[in-house]
Order: sequence, then C-alpha cells, then structure tokens
Amino acid sequence: MNDATVLEEGVLSAAHEVLREVFGYPHFRGPQQPVVEHVCAGGDALVLMPTGGGKSLCYQIPAIVRQRQGHGTTVVVSPLIALMHDQVGALHEAGVDAAFLNSTLTGEEAAQIEKRLMRGEITLLYVAPERVTTPRFLAQLDSMYARGRLGLFAIDEAHCVSQWGHDFRPEYRALTVLHERYAAVPRIALTATADALTREDILERLQLQDARAFVSSFDRPNIRYTIVEKKDPTTQLLRFVQGEHAGDAGIVYCQSRKRVEEIAQTLCDQGVNALPYHAGLDAKVRQQNQDRFLREEAVVMVATIAFGMGIDKPDVRFVAHLDMPKNIEAYYQETGRAGRDGDASDAWMAYGLQDVVNQRRMIDESPAGEEFKQVQRGKLDALLGLAEAIDCRRVRLLKYFGETYAPATGTDDAAAAGETSRSPRLRCGNCDNCLSPAQVWDGTDAARKLLSTIYRVQQSSGITFGAGHIMDIVRGKKTEKVAQHGHAELSTFGIGAEFSEQQLRGVLRQLIAINAVHVDAQAYNTLALTEGSRAVLKGEVPVQLRVSSAAAPADRRRRTGSRTTAAKAPVELDAAAQRRYEALREWRAEVAREHNLPAYVIFHDATLAAIAQRAPHSLDDLQGISGIGARKLEAYGDEVLRVVAL
Ligand code: ADP
Ligand code: ZN
Repeated sequence: MNDATVLEEGVLSAAHEVLREVFGYPHFRGPQQPVVEHVCAGGDALVLMPTGGGKSLCYQIPAIVRQRQGHGTTVVVSPLIALMHDQVGALHEAGVDAAFLNSTLTGEEAAQIEKRLMRGEITLLYVAPERVTTPRFLAQLDSMYARGRLGLFAIDEAHCVSQWGHDFRPEYRALTVLHERYAAVPRIALTATADALTREDILERLQLQDARAFVSSFDRPNIRYTIVEKKDPTTQLLRFVQGEHAGDAGIVYCQSRKRVEEIAQTLCDQGVNALPYHAGLDAKVRQQNQDRFLREEAVVMVATIAFGMGIDKPDVRFVAHLDMPKNIEAYYQETGRAGRDGDASDAWMAYGLQDVVNQRRMIDESPAGEEFKQVQRGKLDALLGLAEAIDCRRVRLLKYFGETYAPATGTDDAAAAGETSRSPRLRCGNCDNCLSPAQVWDGTDAARKLLSTIYRVQQSSGITFGAGHIMDIVRGKKTEKVAQHGHAELSTFGIGAEFSEQQLRGVLRQLIAINAVHVDAQAYNTLALTEGSRAVLKGEVPVQLRVSSAAAPADRRRRTGSRTTAAKAPVELDAAAQRRYEALREWRAEVAREHNLPAYVIFHDATLAAIAQRAPHSLDDLQGISGIGARKLEAYGDEVLRVVAL
C-alpha cells in the first residue's frame, strides 16, 4: 500500500465515522462519498444534485473532518437568511458547533459570534453573501487565514452567481475575492440548477475552472408524477388532498393571488389545515405562515411561485399544481420540493385548455424581444408535450435534462406494471402513465373536423370565433349564435356529432399544444389555423388522446391502512407500533417547540417509524437506527425509551 492509498483510506474512514457518529446515517447517498473524499483532501468541487439529493452533507462532513484535523472553520455562503436559524439549529442538535451571521442578529449577538470565530470555536459559520465581502468580515478572514484556521468555503445555491439562473444575486459576483485572497483554501460550490449554460457560468464567475465537477442523476425516484385533465379543479384537488394525503404536509401552487386565497379558504372550510402565501401578503404574515408550515405538522401551503426557494422541509408529501407552470424547469423545481427525505411523495397537476391558452398569451403579451419569446415558446411546448404524453413522464422529464432514464436495479415494479403491454419502451413504474397505461383513442378524425370548421367559418364570416362556438358547429348544435351567423349552413355543421364536447375539448387542447391551432389572445381568444394545421389535415400528424375516465382516480397509494386523521408512518406499522409512533410524534412536537425548531430537525418521520418498529428496551437497541447520531442518542435516548414503553 502506498502513502496515497493510506491517506485516502484515512480520509474515508474519518468521513464515514462522522457520517455515522454525528449524523447517524449508515451509508452515503449517491455521489456524496466521492465529493466528501475530494473536499476533505483539499480539492475544489462543483456539485450538481437535485433538490433532496443530500447536498448539505457534502460540505458539512468535510467541515467537521477538516476542523478535527486542525484546518479550522468552514464558511458557508448562503442567500437564504430566513433559513439559517433552522440550519444551524439542526447542526446543534447533532452536536456540531455552528453559527450564523446575518442581519437578523443584534450587534451584540454578532460580536459574540465573531469572538468565538476568532477563537476557532466554530466549525461551520453561515453567512449571507453581502456580508462576506465587507471590509470588516474580510479582515477577520485575513486573520484566520494567516493562522491557518480557515478550512473550507462552501458556496450554496451557486446558481445565484449566474444571470441565466432564476435567482441572480449580484453579490455573488464579488465572491471571487475568496479565491483571490485565500488561494490555499478549498472551495465547494453547490446547486440544484443543472442546465449547461448556468453551469458554465458558475465555473467561470467563481473561477472554479479547475474544480472537479460532480453531476448526479436528476431522477427523484420517490416522487410519483401524475397529470390529470382539469375538469372541476377545486373538487379534483380536494379529492386528491383528502383521499390521498389526509394528515400530510404539502404545497398547492396556483397562478394568481386571488386564486391562492380562494383555494386556501376552500381547503380550510373542508377541514384541511391550509395557509395562503403570495407576494401580496404582508411580509409578517408571510413569514408567519412559512414558519407554521415548517414547524407544525400537516400544514398545506397554498401559494404562488413566490413560495419555496430554499425551503428544506424534508417531509413535504405532495406538491400539487392547479395551474400549469411556464416550463419544465419550473415544474421540476417546484415538484422537487416534495419528498426530500426520500419517502414516497406525489407531484400532481391538473391541466386544461385554459392553461395552454394562458401560457401562450403571457408569452405573446410580454414586452420581451422576439428571440426571447421564441425560446419561451419552445420551453412551453416541451411542457405541453409532457402534459399530453401517454408514455412515461419520468423518461420524458429526464430526457429534457439530457439524461437517459436508467431504472434502479432490483426494483422490478416497472416490469410488473408493464407486463400486459408489449411495448418495449422504458417505464419507471412510478408515474400515472406507467401505473395505469392510458387507453388511447385516435383523435385524428376529430382534429380534421375541427380544423376544417375553423377554416370554413373564417372563409364564410371573414372573422374567427372562440372554442365554444367552433365546437358547437362541429357537434351540430343550433345555438343562437349559430343561427345569428348562419353557421348551420356550413358544410361542416354537425360533421362531428358523434363526439362529446369533452372529447373535442381534448383534441383542441392538443392541437393548440402542438401549434396546429393559434389562439388569438388579443381578439377574445379566437381560434385560427397555423402553418402546422396542414400536416394534421393531411393526416401526417397523428393525434392521440387518452380516454378520460370520469370515475374517481383509484386509490393507488402504496401505503394501505385506514384513511383517518391518524399520522401515517413512512412504513407500514402494526397496531402496537402505530401507537408507539404516534406517541413519539407527540413527544417530538413538544421537544421541537421547546427548542424553537421544526420537528424534523429533532428526528425525521422515518427515524421515529424505525424506533416504533423496533420497540427498543435499551440504548443499545436504539444504536444503528438511521438518523440517531451519538449526540441525539445521549440527549434523547432515555426519553425515547420512556415514551415507547408507555
Ligand atoms: P439538498 O440540499 O440536496 O436538497 P439535503 O442536504 O437537505 O438535500 O438532504 C435532504 C435530506 O436527506 C435531509 O433531510 C438529509 O438529512 C437526508 N440525507 C442526506 N444524506 C443522507 C444519507 N447519506 N443518508 C440518509 N439521509 C440523508
Ligand atoms: Zn413512468
């Protein structure tokens, strides 16, 4: 064995030791191990991991290892000031010396922390980017650097440095000073934003060209994707929330503030613990609602996209979209807030004709240049393709991000679900289309009838009309408007009498989605033919639609058991274990309140469920349960034993 191997093994066992002892986790997840090894050994790194991938440990473990080895403090740069308190609280619970410096502290408090920093007592220091580059803070870093007490820089949410990213922060640009001034200190930059443009920008802007890049799969296997046809969205949402997620925490995204208020109210009326969140609310109310979402159990946040950045609550069980976002990036980021803890979660969206029309209109009406609009249209088309898809949603999502879906080995659900179909297509087994392969009907004929009608109407009247009127003509309905315009005389009047309005609506939605029909937002949403219409008329583009089931979606939950308000454990528990689980949750809520921290910071649900299942009688029995590190065992072990013995 040469020296290098010995050194590497030393680093690895030190890192493993910290993983087990401090965090109580038996294994590294995904690419955590190589990242941690590389950074512990003093290398620079760029880490691209999806939300919930486990980025925090990628710098927290090296921070602890390097502090133990005498390299000094790790400085974590993060724009998420509102979350620093809880992040640091979580580290304290694990027995790690951590602190934050930001504008929420009084001068006195900040001075205390600076003193401890200078004494080398802090392992991880969280700071906002605007503070890092102040002369005062740089002077402190200078002093630490001169004494060799600056161990690592971690730059979280690194996409903020790029104006291509969605959260550009000019202060991030100034962070190059860290490299210029403290060249010997390793740096790790982390982000969940994956696109190539942003990634290149991060490397260049932060001068990380020589850093090793760690790119992990963006698949979120525990999230189940479902996209339903929007009929009566409020009822559909209620059915989803109450039927499949009673007693769970979740997020419901709506497009407008007004809609947020309405939906939050409706959910409350139905006994769901729902809160609104949008930019129109008073800042204090917003903060309060966010705190309640983080701290209380089973709160449903009804929000505009103003909500969610940096929310690291691990046990969000569902993200529902009542309105379609503007592209797949946004959809993936928003749905990614579900299931960070790795337990089964749902991404559910109701989507309809109006969504397509709205999104197209927003692009058309935006003041941006034509080139930019073209890009936005392309991105919208990709999302519409996903919504209309009858094949695996996950395969499509990952493909959009340049990844080929590779099913995890050993899970054969996918094969089982697809057994009846002869299609050799890749399927994930955990999206609506894989779980209940859509029955499709050929809408080509209906599409042609709709297109010809739009054409005839335009020819005979010289103007165009909206969707409702066009469908009435196709179905041969003698409405007042039809009579008024003499449209019953058209050769296409009643040519599609065999189709239901719902069927035609679906066809129209798809025609708009594939740009074979244009909706003119400036003229009362009237319909017009496009370049793309001809191919459909000629039958060159097949129009395939799912047969929409009027019936309620079957309860497809993996967890069975009664659908009561009782807390559901992430694994199935027998009656006695369920009682222990609930007792543990009550105990946890109390501790969390005392410590002014969210419950999941004390123990995750999965950890409580594992304890409940094991029915421990001694501290030894608790050892090795995932999520119980040395400090928590010491602090809570006896109490936990008492609670489960009751
Ligand atoms: P990200 O910042 O990438 O979104 P986090 O660092 O918040 O993800 O991690 C997500 C969740 O996964 C956290 O609750 C964390 O405790 C848990 N986690 C991370 N790494 C591991 C691991 N190796 N084993 C078990 N749980 C882990
Ligand atoms: Zn699938």
